[in-house]
Amino acid sequence: MIAIRRTPPWPVLTLLAFVLPSAPRAQEPFEIPRELRDNAARLAERALDSGLALEIAASLTTEIGPRLAGSEQEARAREWGVRTLEALGFADPRVQTFEIDYWTRGELDAEITAPFPQDLVATALGGSAASPPEGLEAEIVFFDSYDDLAAAATATATATATTSATATARDGVVAGRIVYVNDRMVRAQTGAGYGPANRKRQRGWIHAERLGAAALVIRSVGTSNDRFAHTGMMSLPAELERPRIAALAVSNPDADQIERMAAAGGAVRMRLRSTAGFRGRRESGNVIAELPGADLAEQIVLIGAHLDSWDQGTGAVDDAAGVAVVTAAAKLIAELPEPPRRTIRIVYFGAEEVGLRGALHYAEANAEDVPRHVIATESDFGAGRVWRFASGVSRDVDAAMDAVARELMAYGVVPGGRDVRSGGPDITPLADAGVPTVRFEQSGEDYFDLHHTPNDTLDKIDPAALAQNVAVWAAGIYLLANLDVEYRFSEAP
Ligand SMILES: [Zn+2]
Repeated sequence: MIAIRRTPPWPVLTLLAFVLPSAPRAQEPFEIPRELRDNAARLAERALDSGLALEIAASLTTEIGPRLAGSEQEARAREWGVRTLEALGFADPRVQTFEIDYWTRGELDAEITAPFPQDLVATALGGSAASPPEGLEAEIVFFDSYDDLAAAATATATATATTSATATARDGVVAGRIVYVNDRMVRAQTGAGYGPANRKRQRGWIHAERLGAAALVIRSVGTSNDRFAHTGMMSLPAELERPRIAALAVSNPDADQIERMAAAGGAVRMRLRSTAGFRGRRESGNVIAELPGADLAEQIVLIGAHLDSWDQGTGAVDDAAGVAVVTAAAKLIAELPEPPRRTIRIVYFGAEEVGLRGALHYAEANAEDVPRHVIATESDFGAGRVWRFASGVSRDVDAAMDAVARELMAYGVVPGGRDVRSGGPDITPLADAGVPTVRFEQSGEDYFDLHHTPNDTLDKIDPAALAQNVAVWAAGIYLLANLDVEYRFSEAP
């Protein structure tokens, strides 16, 4: 990604001469043994013909449905996971339990009371507090963007607001009012619009509380113009107390209404009532099983997805699709006459949506085994087709990763970068502990139309796209589990 626009002057070249020996060496092309290539192609072919992934996604979303972290349904999903992995013949299906703070959304009503009274379609944000029982009514303070809100809060905190027009305009205005944050999410294949748009959901409450706001309302973090609101977790940094204010997202069309009313210049007033909140400690858990390896069995290739979902839909694309893809891919590999050289471990993480609780617990509880994880990756980006393969493994095996990427091109996947920092949300704690990762990147163009909404249901999974995922995962994971290379970094990345 570095664009060299000019011939470097000589001193730079001299410097490069010292730098180059430690940079990745040009490598001999890596030849994947014929037998492995044939098996990978066979796996992909079978995956494209198999309905197993769709059956798994249908079973989880129908027989369990919504699976909020810490709920009864999530507990039933763990039993479902063990049953399913057992029935498919995987070794030692088991549950690794842990406790979480259990949050539920309760009831919520929100309406505009002035200048043009009307109901709003809204939903509480994960981690938010209840409003006063009778609800609250206040004028909104309209922030065009998260950055404006953050600037106002910072200016107030440091009492040097004089240089910021936004901050001076807001200073002292927010107290007792409802902070409204409007930034829109940009649609993109990579999902790159999510991070920037999501800051208001994650950290908006911190600034709103600092400014003395009565509540936080945000435009949904999502690309749909359908009239439903996108939920999702707020960030709860360990050093801060829990949110004390109600926080909610309104649907994109409702946000447009608020934007038009605010643009007219008069006061916009809102009334809201929410009974959201934490309800004590509850059990969650990860479901784990293996396809044992042959001569390199002590090395683990971890393929994961998350079992919990938000409560509004049935968690089909997020993340029953991921559960289905990794399970079906591993099952196809298990059906080959010879086991893979390395052990393939399936992990259905619990409590992902509420702050990667299962992933953090897994990395902690398995700390001694972390060095045995030689590849880790997760399917958690909907049910769209895989379009790119990228890696974050030792640069000494660049040529081998090129060779894997070449095999995957047959299924519509282009080679991607070498700079993967994590193989998925639940892989982050392992990646932070030095575990190499890969990503089978899915097209996220439409993912955020559904993400965390009541519309995340089974019918949104395209069977052909799901089968393509299984084909790419089965072929890719099979190769990674069998290649004669060392993925681990020689020193910590
Ligand atoms: Zn997810």
